[in-house]
Amino acid sequence: MAYRAPVEEVLFLLQHVLNVQHYGNLEGFDDVSSDSLEQILSAAARFAEDVVAPLNQPGDGEACRFLAGSVKTPRGFKEAYRQLVDDGWNSAAVSAKLGGKGMPYVVAAAIEEFINGANQSFAMYADWGFYASLLMDAEGIEQLRRDYLDPLIAGTWSGTMALTEPHCGTDVGMIRTAATPQPDGSYRLNGTKIFISGGEHDLTENIVHFVLARIDGAPAGTQGISLFLVPKFEAARAGMLGKRNGVQCLGIEHKMGLRASATCRLHFEDAKGWLIGAPNRGLKQMFVLMNHTRRACGVIAVAGSEAAYQRASTYVKERVQGRRARACDNGEESKAALLLDQPDVRRILMRLRAFIEPARALVLWMALQSDIYERSREESAKERARERIELLTPILKAVLSDMGFEAAVQAQQLFGGHGYIVSTGVEQYVRDLRVLMIAEGANGVQAMDLVMRKLFRDDGRGFRSFVNDVSQAAQDMPEDLEFLNEAMSRSLIDLIAAFDWLHGASAADASAGAYDFMTMLGLVSLGYMWTLIIAAAGKVLSAEEGMHRAYKIARARFFMERLLPDTGAYLRRITSGAQDFLNLPADAF
Ligand SMILES: Cc1cc2nc3c(=O)[nH]c(=O)nc-3n(C[C@H](O)[C@H](O)[C@H](O)COP(=O)(O)OP(=O)(O)OC[C@H]3O[C@@H](n4cnc5c(N)ncnc54)[C@H](O)[C@@H]3O)c2cc1C
Repeated sequence: MAYRAPVEEVLFLLQHVLNVQHYGNLEGFDDVSSDSLEQILSAAARFAEDVVAPLNQPGDGEACRFLAGSVKTPRGFKEAYRQLVDDGWNSAAVSAKLGGKGMPYVVAAAIEEFINGANQSFAMYADWGFYASLLMDAEGIEQLRRDYLDPLIAGTWSGTMALTEPHCGTDVGMIRTAATPQPDGSYRLNGTKIFISGGEHDLTENIVHFVLARIDGAPAGTQGISLFLVPKFEAARAGMLGKRNGVQCLGIEHKMGLRASATCRLHFEDAKGWLIGAPNRGLKQMFVLMNHTRRACGVIAVAGSEAAYQRASTYVKERVQGRRARACDNGEESKAALLLDQPDVRRILMRLRAFIEPARALVLWMALQSDIYERSREESAKERARERIELLTPILKAVLSDMGFEAAVQAQQLFGGHGYIVSTGVEQYVRDLRVLMIAEGANGVQAMDLVMRKLFRDDGRGFRSFVNDVSQAAQDMPEDLEFLNEAMSRSLIDLIAAFDWLHGASAADASAGAYDFMTMLGLVSLGYMWTLIIAAAGKVLSAEEGMHRAYKIARARFFMERLLPDTGAYLRRITSGAQDFLNLPADAF
């Protein structure tokens, strides 16, 4: 079954839920009139559907191959990559001043969804122009920018983010890769990095590694980490290949999923590198990028769940199995039924839609917050956007990746045994999406970041202000949709009770309750999106589109009645404390 990019749904969200046309005063938004938006999204959809999606299953079967230090990507990837670059999709979010398309993040995020929905492995190679533009924003590196940034934005060169080492993943403070200053102002880097996505491949003539390393004599821990640019080939001059540098690919990982994305072991041996930004400030600089890639995990989770859902919803309308559940009630002879006629099958489909629609709204809404934060001149709007981004980035990264993976498993379930068979194509989404819960900081680490570092900052101002918005949106629901207000109000009471409990809890209890709190906040955020979606659907969907509104209300009701009430259980889990298991000796585990 072919992937179809959800253009109409995205247009509805952008134009009616987020009202992007009202942001014409922000840079890049002057081009988002309804016609141009539709043209951009339709063109991106065609690229995703016709060029990228057909490579997904074959690419997974063929996988990347490692041959004497080089990596061969699956058949068709090179041509598709060339088209990606020719069409400029790789630089959609890069500022026009730097030679990119300068689209708002909120539009670029939709394009990112389409390409990831078509082929998650391929999409891993796509965004290096944007990432490099974030990392190379530092002062004092004008020459490096001239030599390396233009080809990265053009897509003729690509990049990597090289943090992880064999002995350290989560705790990057333990990094050992060493950088030794040279008389010419450059550095010699020595060390080994593992799990580096796109560390070696045949899609571009050069690869620029952004490496975290420790300058000789630097302080221990995260305070002593610096960021370096280490190219595979040095630039002879702007965009021109020079000398081969001392970075080698030792091999690639054979993985559960993302098999067409090269995950590489890289060895740096006296590799020439240049410092980006100030010494010992590398982690802070890398976090500018990682906050984007963490939010991108939410985009990818939506993309994969949508693609898995599309397959499942087609399958259940074709597969005949069992008897129609209602046939026995009226004494009629029971008839063979489609899977779709089984109530439990419908429950699963509703569960998927009840998650995917608000999750897509949430990732786009968050992309809009990034636009406001970076482009608005109004200080209060910027500050509000900053608070939302800080509070909800862990939700996109972790809650959406958990729920996206679960959605793919549920879609697979609808295929029965056939879902376990590779040729059906649905199990690949389960394998590919799984990594989102691990990479970019494991989900448990996101929960700690949220509760132990961000939630109570400024006496929880960001949280309280978000809760006010959510509460207001629920109260604004018309009377015939009172169920939305009731459900949201109950869950907000749970959420605030959990917040208050965690505020007064010991560090150990708060840490042990962090994951459940993060999931609660995720559920409430999705509920908030449902209120915005339903409010917009009431205003804009015309009489002929009344059924679409009715479908949305049915899905929102499902969410409010069957998913959101879990906040009550999460509250009970959090407030039960953790001493009973935290105090157990190691041999109890
Ligand atoms: C397909 C793939 C692609 C990747 N791409 C890249 C890349 O391009 N660049 C790069 O640098 N790295 C990359 N990684 C590495 C990835 O970021 C790390 O695997 C991840 O950060 C976890 O580190 P680790 O594997 O060492 O696990 P560990 O740090 O050993 O952690 C193991 C588990 O322990 C738990 N845990 C650890 N510490 C904490 C804590 N403080 N609080 C709560 N729980 C904790 C978590 O559940 C975690 O999953 C990639 C990994 C994969 C699988």
